[in-house]
Amino acid sequence: MATIDDQFLRVQLEERRKRLQTAVTEFSSDAALAHLLHEVDSALQRMESGTYGLCEECHDPIEADRLIADPLVCFCLDHLTVQQQRALESDLELAAQVQRTLLPSNGVRAAGWDFHYHWQPFALVSGDYCDLIYSKNGAEEIWFLLGDVSGKGVAASMLMTHLHAIFRSLTSTGAPVGEQTMRYAPSSSSGPGNAGLSLDQLMLMANRVFCESVMAGQFATMVAGRASSSGRVEIVNAGHCPVVVVKQNEVTALPSTGVPLGMFCEGSAVVQNVDLGPGESLFLYTDGLSETFNPTGKQYGDERLGRFLADSRTLTPDALIAACLRDVKEFASGTPPADDLTLMVINRTAP
Ligand SMILES: [Zn+2]
Repeated sequence: MATIDDQFLRVQLEERRKRLQTAVTEFSSDAALAHLLHEVDSALQRMESGTYGLCEECHDPIEADRLIADPLVCFCLDHLTVQQQRALESDLELAAQVQRTLLPSNGVRAAGWDFHYHWQPFALVSGDYCDLIYSKNGAEEIWFLLGDVSGKGVAASMLMTHLHAIFRSLTSTGAPVGEQTMRYAPSSSSGPGNAGLSLDQLMLMANRVFCESVMAGQFATMVAGRASSSGRVEIVNAGHCPVVVVKQNEVTALPSTGVPLGMFCEGSAVVQNVDLGPGESLFLYTDGLSETFNPTGKQYGDERLGRFLADSRTLTPDALIAACLRDVKEFASGTPPADDLTLMVINRTAP
């Protein structure tokens, strides 16, 4: 879950107050601006008195992700007026539509690989990021990305769209974004990302851009990978669940080798390499899978997943995802999901 740094919010609010004050002085007849200034002042007063972040109706803490998205909110979700609830619902539906348009096509076949995924928000919007980036004209390689933003709901979904923009921009241009010290590999391959950006450079740059634009306590675990037509897959795992490698004779897990994006602006990205033959796969997931609970409070867990994948290795990618969802449902035995859930299967089709 997202956490809030009070000091950070205070600085943000004071900065906004300054800007509002200037605007109100220049457009003194604008009642909406004056009202907003009053709201900011009230929030700063609540910080002084120690009541900031508490619902004015029930005095319970307001949902953290809503405070991050809008530091001026005064009521918890349970105590919004009917009008506020309707406005929120319609905003959420719009946000959900926008988010769905950012998802890649399902069942993509490119560069000798077959990709299938399942993306399931906990509520209307999701903090899980899922993307495939490749050239539609005979791609030699394909980038795959799976991430999980801290927290849930609107604030997390905004960060998910932010990650989408960052990775799309970096892989399409390969351009250095305000980074002077990066070195670039020679441009040799075709397809997106062909401006010579290597996987570790991509992650370092994405981390820097993300880090400079998130609030304290916000971060994203990520797996970024590049699968090439030779069967070689490069993977960087930044604080995310293990990537499961499903080969003919063994199932192994590639653990995280770094910290999540957004935690530190400086960092390193360790690239792990895997070679897959025809019919072999990678299985990626978010913790909405491994942390699914059953009625006795037990988690689905990586071990059960490993056994399931070992038993299911002959399934096609779409059938594997469907079978996994059935297995999780059976395990949960009616316990409702508590998080966003995304699964991705990458299967080598051609030699
Ligand atoms: Zn309340």
